[in-house]
Formats: sequence, structure tokens, C-alpha cells
Amino acid sequence: MQIRGMDTPEDKNSIDYRIGEGLARLAAALGAEDRGRAKEAGLTATQLAVLTLLEGRPEGMGVGDIARHLLVTQPTATDTILTLERKGYVAKLASDADRRASLVQLTAAGAALHSLAEGGRGSVSEAVATLAEGQKRALFEALITLIRGLQEAGAIPLQRMCISCQYFRPHSHPDPVRPHHCALVDAAFGDPDLRMDCRDHVSSDPAHRAATWRVFTQG
Ligand code: SF4
Repeated sequence: MQIRGMDTPEDKNSIDYRIGEGLARLAAALGAEDRGRAKEAGLTATQLAVLTLLEGRPEGMGVGDIARHLLVTQPTATDTILTLERKGYVAKLASDADRRASLVQLTAAGAALHSLAEGGRGSVSEAVATLAEGQKRALFEALITLIRGLQEAGAIPLQRMCISCQYFRPHSHPDPVRPHHCALVDAAFGDPDLRMDCRDHVSSDPAHRAATWRVFTQG
């Protein structure tokens, strides 16, 4: 397909600009779904997002980390956590590493509410399910590239993806279907199984991440 016009984000005829418009539409749809789910659970979207974040981190998180992951201010995170604490959905405990700091953890009531609120597929998931396998793979690959770009630029915190994990060994097997290796579970896997948010993820340093990315993209 011939793309007319300069491909710069400022140029409204550029594909970059229109991809941004498309992503904004998806973000709006996902945001509306989140607000709807949260409302049914008697929460705000930010409160539900905190429960979702903590559900995947049983060790708990500091308030600053929660704010960074949700891209909200620290006062907003603090207020949200206070409200959730009053409702009995989260609890604070002293951090082993720093007795002055506290970690926020999900309570059993918070976990139960979260699993109720997260049940069922939304319209965006349903739309994704209609894509052809090739489209899904291309979209998945593009998402990994975009999210990596954002985290390496410091726009979002490091995500718990395979590409930034110490255990990830890209293209270490000759099998084209399962070329990668997870050293934690000592198993081969393919691109569709790359994790976006793995609980066993251990962050690697920037030099290791850059080297891993080179091997991953060059094959
Ligand atoms: S531990 Fe998780 S994130 Fe790390 S390589 Fe294995 S599957 Fe990927």
C-alpha cells in the first residue's frame, strides 16, 4: 500500500498519526470497560487497577511503585489505597528492607472482589478474537516492540515481559516453532507464548536487556 505524505507524528496524513488515533480509540474503549467493571464492583477504575496490580504481586508493593505503574500521582495513589484499606480490600505492612516504608498487599476480600470484577471478556478482547492468526501475531509483536520502547524511554516502568527477564534466552533452539528458552522452568517456547506480565520475571540490567533484544530481533 502506498502511503502519501510525510510519515511524521505531527503530519495528520501520516500513518504514525493515524496509528496513534487508533490506539487512542482502543485506550478509550478499554478505559470504558474498566470503568464499567469497577462500577459494578462498587469501585473506581483506579481502585480496581490497584487491586489488579496487587493481585499479581503477592509480596506487595510500595505506594510509589503503585503510582508509577498506574501512571498516577503519588497523592492519588495514596488516597486510593487509603480508601481501599478502609474497605478492607488492601492492608499495609512494614517492609523487611526498609522499616520506615510500608508495602501494600491485597487482602482475601480484595482478591475475591478482584476475581469477581475481572470475570468475563470485554468487547476489545472479543474484537481481538476475530483477528486472523497472522494478524494476532503481528499485533502481538508490534505491542511488545512498542511497550519495550516506552519502558526503555522511561515513559513506563519496566514491565514483567520475557524480553527484560534474566531467565530469557532468545533463539537458543533450532526449532523454528519453539526457538526461545526459559531458564527458570528449563523449557523451550515460541513467540506466541512470550509473557507480557510474568510473576516469575526477574529484571535484567540495561546492558543485558539490550543484548537480549538484539538476539531476539535478529533471530
Ligand atoms: S521467568 Fe517468565 S518472564 Fe522470565 S523468561 Fe521465563 S516465562 Fe519469561
